[in-house]
Amino acid sequence: LNRRDFILTGGAVAGASLISGCSRSQFEDKGVNIKRQKKIKLKLATSWPDNFPIMGTGVTEFADRVREASGGSIEIEVYGKNRLVPALAVFDTASTGGIDIFHSGPYYWKGKSLAISIFGGVPFGMTPIESVSWFKNGGGYDLWREIYDRYNLHPLLGGNTGPQMGGWFRKRIEKLDDLSGLKMRIPGLGGELFARLGVNPVLLPAGEIFTSLERGTIDASEWVGPALDLKMGFHRVAKYYYSGWTEPGSILELTFNKMSWNRLSKEQQSIIEIASEELNSNMLYNFQSENSLALTQIKMDSSIEINSFPKEIIEKAKVENIKLIDEFVAKDRDFAKVWSSYSKFLSENRSWTSLSSQNYLNARGESH
Ligand code: CA
Repeated sequence: LNRRDFILTGGAVAGASLISGCSRSQFEDKGVNIKRQKKIKLKLATSWPDNFPIMGTGVTEFADRVREASGGSIEIEVYGKNRLVPALAVFDTASTGGIDIFHSGPYYWKGKSLAISIFGGVPFGMTPIESVSWFKNGGGYDLWREIYDRYNLHPLLGGNTGPQMGGWFRKRIEKLDDLSGLKMRIPGLGGELFARLGVNPVLLPAGEIFTSLERGTIDASEWVGPALDLKMGFHRVAKYYYSGWTEPGSILELTFNKMSWNRLSKEQQSIIEIASEELNSNMLYNFQSENSLALTQIKMDSSIEINSFPKEIIEKAKVENIKLIDEFVAKDRDFAKVWSSYSKFLSENRSWTSLSSQNYLNARGESH
């Protein structure tokens, strides 16, 4: 036995006797460890197909992290789209306790309350960093939980898509008039906004978009951004790709049935909150790196034209967006309340983001 081995074995023996010297109840009294013999199983349903890139895989990684961090005592079973619950029934099913958790986007629930659409993201609204700051420091979380409480739900931030693209068009868009009568697959507030620019918005299931675009049944479609768009193959049938302003950073949610959440100990809730923080930031980082990679690939295809919409269209869209929001404020009290908080935070952040990030990005430019 050399000296080093002696120290190591001696240390191990001392450590073992120290642990056996403490009774299990001593640890438990201090709340140091989780009662591992008591396993908790939670059912989570998503609005995405199993293993859907970035969003679906992010949720699986989250469940793995919770299992690891809880020493196996919290087991979250993840069910992809339609396996347990139809994609857009997850909200109602969690609300009534049919599942414990869902992963989706607040964007889908404006039929429940118009105000919920603000939590999902607003055209010409906050960037991802601004919106997370609003949820945490500007009162966004309180307002979100106040509204979800009526549905017996407890929401946590569960990811961000980062800035989304404006969409793929079969012809070049040079002026406002070029949008007139175009059939475009675009849902949500973005769809309502594009309707005011002359577009005829249509809703299509994900599986039908490519064929409709290929056959010319539709003239354009938005989806997410380079990484997910490339997998859909839109670049093969629509050659004009525009940057966007309808979804500057869409929020995804990890929402609990309230009873399921309240049944968890403080310790278990903390593990889940910490893992959800990781899910929230990792998803944004993954979109950033995957989009950059995919854009590089798209740019290698010289038949694709990448551009931003003409100024005339952007200016008109901004005017129409304000009108649309004013109408919602006038007709929905909850929308007015949430918008008042959101718009105050946005206007404060607009100055700082513009002075710092915007000026920096302008200075950095696209090339060296
Ligand atoms: Ca989108």
